[in-house]
Amino acid sequence: MKDLFIYNSLSGKKEKFKPIKEGLVGMYVCGPTVYSNVHLGNVRTFMSFDMVFRYLKHLGYKVRYVRNITDAGHLEDDADSGEDRIAKKAHLEKIEPMEVVQRYTVDFHQTLNNFNFLPPSIEPRATGHIIEQIETIKEIIKNGFAYEVNGSVYFDVIKFNETKNYGKLSKRKIEDLIHNTRNLDGQSDKKNPQDFALWKKAEQHHIMRWPSPWSNGFPGWHLECTAMSTKYLGENFDIHGGGMDLKFPHHECEIAQSEASHGKSPVNVWMHANMLTLNGQKMAKSTGNFILPNDFFTGNSKHLSKKFSSSVVRFFILQAHYRSVLDFSNTALLASEKGYNKLMEAINILPSLKKSDETIGMNVKLWIKDCYKAMNDDFNSPILIAELFKLVKFINQIKDGSAFVSSDDLNLINLHLKEFVFDILGLKNDTFSDTKFEGKLKETVQLLIAMRNEARENKDFKLSDKIRDRLLNIGIQLNDGKEGTTFTIENK
Ligand code: AMP
Ligand code: ZN
Repeated sequence: MKDLFIYNSLSGKKEKFKPIKEGLVGMYVCGPTVYSNVHLGNVRTFMSFDMVFRYLKHLGYKVRYVRNITDAGHLEDDADSGEDRIAKKAHLEKIEPMEVVQRYTVDFHQTLNNFNFLPPSIEPRATGHIIEQIETIKEIIKNGFAYEVNGSVYFDVIKFNETKNYGKLSKRKIEDLIHNTRNLDGQSDKKNPQDFALWKKAEQHHIMRWPSPWSNGFPGWHLECTAMSTKYLGENFDIHGGGMDLKFPHHECEIAQSEASHGKSPVNVWMHANMLTLNGQKMAKSTGNFILPNDFFTGNSKHLSKKFSSSVVRFFILQAHYRSVLDFSNTALLASEKGYNKLMEAINILPSLKKSDETIGMNVKLWIKDCYKAMNDDFNSPILIAELFKLVKFINQIKDGSAFVSSDDLNLINLHLKEFVFDILGLKNDTFSDTKFEGKLKETVQLLIAMRNEARENKDFKLSDKIRDRLLNIGIQLNDGKEGTTFTIENK
């Protein structure tokens, strides 16, 4: 297939993707800090990279996808102060930190499973790589880019910037950083406030600590990703991903650590996924502005009018490009549900379509090309979905007898539609078409359809809408077409 272009945050441009080793791709994505349940915003970022992983595999690449679990070192304020998030939760709940880690790692896996994620190739944990992190620090000290004070080790940003470029990813200038960072008033051991911790000496009450040449302590948050990506993907690898909010300081620090320890720029393509917002504000645990994935399956949330299947939520997320902000709303989700059901209905009726001698109404080969064009243009899933709906229209026209499809084209549609929908977008078909149903259930729904038609004839739209909406609430969607009304049932 044609060339794949990916937007690289480092260059600020879409670039033709060329892996370091032909046919192989190394991809690292920053994983969750497992101290609480993941919210839908986190899910969105991981889903963007699940789609990237799926598409790269679809194109035939052998992908080593590494996504870590942060189970140590992430302090409350994302910088170098505050309590360790996991230790704090352990204190609060009076359990071991590793119980916190286990609980929320299991939750994370279950959530991703519910949304039909593919597992990464390797899922390393920060606590399992303390030795590698200590070794990286030793290298950085040896190369003169870090210093030890009172058992803690800090990265010397100013020194690094004399010969390299700190800020090249986030496009920040060191002068601005110096200007904008609070003076630490002697409260810190750092030489400069821009410096960041590679190793922190543990305070008396700190439970999570390991021995090191400098003190009993713990690694800085940014270090684990450098140590683990280098270990599993090498000093220079193809793709590094994460949410936009990790660009600075986390990813900027990762670049600095790598360049300071082995001298190479670690990553060829930096990809950043944009935020999910709720009421226009970033979805975040800390502000209480969030929805948990499970809320969709129960419908118990002030943000939701009913329950929704995981595929509908997945479809909603992928209807936006990964680099655009996506604002969550119940109305938008309802619209996505309609679209999703329409798409599944078209897939459900594929086997019953009549074949003709020739295709009239659509150029199927061109359609396939356009689908790839969308995905090759920086994984443009909303354009792909728009293409899928062009096909849905065509399928419905074939059903109604106003368009025709040849046997060869129908085979192509069958193959590619399913590849795009199930393999690349990762959706599942949670619906049954009414053709699957016989007997009393079918007759009951048909009776309601007849009553709705009667109400419409009598211009009693309140009643006809009520019948449609009440059915939708219990997972039965009515589809109005030229040949009358059919229905789709949620398979949940
Ligand atoms: P954390 O566990 O806080 O490190 O977050 C895990 C991932 O979720 C990171 O890649 C974050 O950038 C991402 N993330 C956090 N909040 C949001 C949000 N509201 N929308 C999209 N991604 C988010
Ligand atoms: Zn990371």
